[in-house]
Amino acid sequence: MAKKKAAKKTAAKKTAAKKTTAKKFVYFFGGGKADGDRTMRDTLGGKGANLAEMTNAGLPVPPGFTISTDACRLYYEKGTKTAPNVDAEMLAHLKTLEKVAKKSFGSKTDPLLVSVRSGAKFSMPGMMDTILNLGLNDTTVEALKAKTGNGRFAYDSYRRFIQMFGNVVLEIPKDVFEHELEAVKKAKGVKEDPQLDEAALREVVDRYKQAVRKHAKQDFPQDPIEQLRGSRDAVFRSWQNPRAKEYRRIYEIPDNIGTAVNVQSMVFGNTGDRSGTGVGFTRNPATGAKEFYGEFLINAQGEDVVAGIRTPRQIAELEQVMPKAYKQLRTITTRLEKHYKDIQDFEFTIQDEELFMLQTRSGKRTGYAAVVIATDLVSEKLVTPKEAVLMVEPEALTQLLAPIFDPKEWKKMPVATKGLPASPGAASGQVVFTADHAVEWARDGKKVMLVRKETVPDDIHGMYVAQGILTATGGMTSHAAVVGRQMGKPSVVGAGALQIDERARTVQVGGQTLKEGDWLSFDGLTGEVKTGQVATKPSEILQVVNGEMKEHQSDIFSRFNLLLSWADKHRRLAIRANADQPDQAEIAYGFGARGIGLCRTEHMFFGEGRIPIVQEMILADNEKDRRAALAKLLPLQRGDFYGVFKAMHGSPVTIRTIDPPLHEFLPKREDLMVDVAKLETAGKKGAELDEKKRLLHRVEQLHEFNPMLGHRGVRLGITYPEITEMQSRAIIEAACQLTKEGIKCVPEIMIPLVGDVRELRDQKAVVVRIADEVMKEQGVKVKYLVGTMIEVPRGAITANEIAAEAEFFSFGTNDLTQLTYGFSRDDIGKFLGSYQDRRILERDPFASLDTTGVGQLVEMGTKRGRATKPDLKVGICGEHGGDPSSIHFFDKVGLDYVSCSPYRVPVARLAAAQSALKATAFS
Ligand code: ADP
Ligand code: MG
Ligand code: MG
Repeated sequence: MAKKKAAKKTAAKKTAAKKTTAKKFVYFFGGGKADGDRTMRDTLGGKGANLAEMTNAGLPVPPGFTISTDACRLYYEKGTKTAPNVDAEMLAHLKTLEKVAKKSFGSKTDPLLVSVRSGAKFSMPGMMDTILNLGLNDTTVEALKAKTGNGRFAYDSYRRFIQMFGNVVLEIPKDVFEHELEAVKKAKGVKEDPQLDEAALREVVDRYKQAVRKHAKQDFPQDPIEQLRGSRDAVFRSWQNPRAKEYRRIYEIPDNIGTAVNVQSMVFGNTGDRSGTGVGFTRNPATGAKEFYGEFLINAQGEDVVAGIRTPRQIAELEQVMPKAYKQLRTITTRLEKHYKDIQDFEFTIQDEELFMLQTRSGKRTGYAAVVIATDLVSEKLVTPKEAVLMVEPEALTQLLAPIFDPKEWKKMPVATKGLPASPGAASGQVVFTADHAVEWARDGKKVMLVRKETVPDDIHGMYVAQGILTATGGMTSHAAVVGRQMGKPSVVGAGALQIDERARTVQVGGQTLKEGDWLSFDGLTGEVKTGQVATKPSEILQVVNGEMKEHQSDIFSRFNLLLSWADKHRRLAIRANADQPDQAEIAYGFGARGIGLCRTEHMFFGEGRIPIVQEMILADNEKDRRAALAKLLPLQRGDFYGVFKAMHGSPVTIRTIDPPLHEFLPKREDLMVDVAKLETAGKKGAELDEKKRLLHRVEQLHEFNPMLGHRGVRLGITYPEITEMQSRAIIEAACQLTKEGIKCVPEIMIPLVGDVRELRDQKAVVVRIADEVMKEQGVKVKYLVGTMIEVPRGAITANEIAAEAEFFSFGTNDLTQLTYGFSRDDIGKFLGSYQDRRILERDPFASLDTTGVGQLVEMGTKRGRATKPDLKVGICGEHGGDPSSIHFFDKVGLDYVSCSPYRVPVARLAAAQSALKATAFS
């Protein structure tokens, strides 16, 4: 007892102590140890966490400190001001940094220079800002010159700093500086930046300072502390720049997490020919191949490689140029890959042959590479199959299913030019030259190819809508390449032969001039570019699934299949597909669906030659005529069901009885009116006119003010029981026939739009009566179930009553979303954009389940249903069945299966496995 009290006391003391110790905002790294580590991404951002981790591992990382994301959030809470305590903590850490680096800020002999780097929890390449060489001013630049004996280098660093600071902090447009630089280059008659000598660079510095005075109405700040504060706050601000916001919207990154700021002492890749800078990957991020991959530039700094200004050299050449640094880089990056158990994307700088690591992170990769890498890492025993399953983004699998060029068609056309194959895939579309045009054209439903000299982060919206991205400059690690891969967009970069005239909106390639709107195609796997449009054919994976190719002929199929077979071991949810035709069902089965969750019978009515019979049924004004028409439909439907059952090889097939309002099967009222008027003015009389008039009359009778809430679903079956009778008969007859042939099948008959148990009771009676009748006639017994869709809120609320009659539930989350929100799926487009801009909705609720509202009905309906019938089978068959985050929710609330479109089945298998694995990891 006494002991307990004492324990309580110390606990109380501890919390008191916690309260009084101020919150920590700044974390140091350097001298072989760091305050943080890789697990602290929330606080330090990805870059900061990994700089800390690399420091702890004893790798050569220039020392520095990370100002946390908490400080960024506080900055915004305080109305975009850095709190005094954060500032004080930063200055204290600056003192430590000076000690560790053995240099001091503003020193006239050996000045400390730093970089100020953004870095959020999730990497956002190029979206936020970085400033290099901070600490330089008119005095320290001379000190740097004296210390290094390299005036060219000192002034090159200074002009870069003014340029970055001017742009990022003082918000002076980049081209203001570019203009001055070009002017000096022209005057000196040089082409490349490295050719500028010290005198020229001094002139550039002077011009830059004048430009600052002119555009910012202030002198370039000379005080390093003032430079540091300004840069830090500018990085915080860059979190809210338009491109960063757009990036977060696309990748669904929360807006409120903020960025960290890394302040790191500088190392220099621009001191001369024994220095350089580069970026690389431990494997090929486009194809996944196990090869060292990257690019570098000699005598260059920072962004030069990524910005695509100079086309960089292949990393392999570094081995010749600086063998020692190259070898060390290989050793370190191999170690990093083993440590992080994933492909690494790294940035490095070499200063006078000494290597420094500036960044490492898990490499962004294409869907194709993701599958290759995950399966390779398992065979290399670096990760377990379970870990591999967690490594691949489910959505990435869709890239593997994208069509490829028909090789025969592709070979027929001459190669116009070749670029670097940055991101694989076949792309064909109409040329546009700006991101804005890409968006405009895509909005009109056109397929566009974004053709740019180089892409910049501001182009992100245009890249997102394009079929493919083609650039004239830049390497495999340029912005276009990185973002293209991440989006899974086919991309070819650095096609140097392209001559783009953005103003005239033309591009010259292979002796031809293409205008905006002309067709262009390229293969992102080979880099070949051709003019014109090329026919595509199904992806390799689909070719294996539909039998055109053998499994062993396709490496990627084998890997895809292997990964999914691992996934299947871990998932709890069963996966079904929504399919109405035997061929769709076959494909779904090939992709691993084990069951049909929704077979829409009305889609079968649209089959060839059927619509006239359906219309005959609808036009009948008495039961006898209606039955006559239905009798003609019966054998057709029976044939359909027979095919679908067979394609599922004994897995259950859920067939929904007729659902849409009948007018959908008739011509449009306006069209009929025009036809009638035409026939009448032409003075034509007779059968055709009478028929049109009869149709028009019936269409007018069927007219509804709100068809979505009208005479549809179970309501049709109740008013025309003979339709339910015919459909039940077709289903059971098909099942009997298969049973006689010794083929297993499991029909599940599903009544749509039920909100009251009595509706279901009514229709179930019809189904059971017919089924009994058919089985007696056929002398065969088949097992079948009768269940319902839960898609009307009242159905979910009274699920306990409905479950007394239903043998299964399937949530129709499309209608359930429409009816819960009161949003019509067909009209939401008019306001969804505004809702998303204002953050009223994060995502389209028809694409990703609204778990806080609609999801609650799903959870409640499941619980109430199972309260009545504990072993009630429950599934979902809306669009959401193929959406990873929705699948996660369905898994959590304990549904038995999800059903999605055939092509989403692989995504659903993987998402269901990840959900189950994450659930066990966190429980
Ligand atoms: P991003 O997030 O856009 O990649 P970084 O903060 O990584 O921006 O900075 C870009 C580049 O600037 C780095 O890859 C590196 O080449 C250079 N850089 C950043 N900090 C330093 C430093 N302390 N010393 C030398 N180069 C640096
Ligand atoms: Mg970087
Ligand atoms: Mg529905």
